Amino acid sequence: MINHLLISSQNYFSNNPLDRLSPNRPDIDLDQALHEEASTLIVPIWQGKHLASIEEPARVVFLSTAEAQPLIQNPNQLVFLGKRGGNDYFAIHIQEEDPSTNPFWQQWGTFESLRSLGKIATLAEGAILGYAQAMIYWHSTHQFCGRCGTATRSDWAGHVRICQNPDCGKKHFPRTDPAIITLITYQDQGLLVRQSQWQPANRFSLVAGFVEPGESLEEAVQREVMEETGLEVNEVEYQSSQPWPFPGSIMLGFRAEATHQNFELIDQELEKARWFTRAQLKDAAAAKEILLSPKMSISRMLIDAWLKEE
Ligand SMILES: [Zn+2]
Repeated sequence: MINHLLISSQNYFSNNPLDRLSPNRPDIDLDQALHEEASTLIVPIWQGKHLASIEEPARVVFLSTAEAQPLIQNPNQLVFLGKRGGNDYFAIHIQEEDPSTNPFWQQWGTFESLRSLGKIATLAEGAILGYAQAMIYWHSTHQFCGRCGTATRSDWAGHVRICQNPDCGKKHFPRTDPAIITLITYQDQGLLVRQSQWQPANRFSLVAGFVEPGESLEEAVQREVMEETGLEVNEVEYQSSQPWPFPGSIMLGFRAEATHQNFELIDQELEKARWFTRAQLKDAAAAKEILLSPKMSISRMLIDAWLKEE
């Protein structure tokens, strides 16, 4: 059953091809893995962006350890991602001010946002970059201990940060923030919504929000739908999930059937909401009256799966 779910989920950023080797992380020999003759690939990340050559043939750039020697002098800035074939993969956080003026980077390409790489990166590369980006973000936001405020240091090849206060020594582990996203249905219609800050002005998506402490996922769906639309939903059904590295979430996709059709945009988070039949939604999208979320998003996957059920 689990296998079936894994194979059927085609969400972007999932299906990471790397073997994470999670039990081995504390024992990884960084000197060996980062030696200039090692078959290790380095994923450089600068301000949440990724190295790519956008001139034809456009490609995501992973550096060999020989190419990356100037970068890997401080192994504490590196995060082991996993193994694929004979290659280990490590992410590294690039902290310089403006790499575009540095000849070292100019020889490879430019740093591009993950959202803009959808057409260049393969699905496997997208999953590796998303994972790398989420890990680097977690490191950047856990430089100090949340319990005592002392600086932390990276260990276990980047999979733990340890408080350096000997009286505390708390270990901090990478975390991801769960958020629900749901297609609300009522009989043969689906509800699409719009927040005023979404660009462009005809962009529509689905109700979404973070799971709060002390609630189940189903309760989070019911609460978010009620808060944003005033609708009560009774049948809440899990669909699939997607790691969402903007900056460090896991999106949990649901479908929820409303008990009635009369929504009310109560908390002003939404600017608009509109019911569509499948035919109306296809026509509105074809006429560019509305713009659906990009294909890399679970929002679009949930909508497309519903449209295909006609
Ligand atoms: Zn501490």
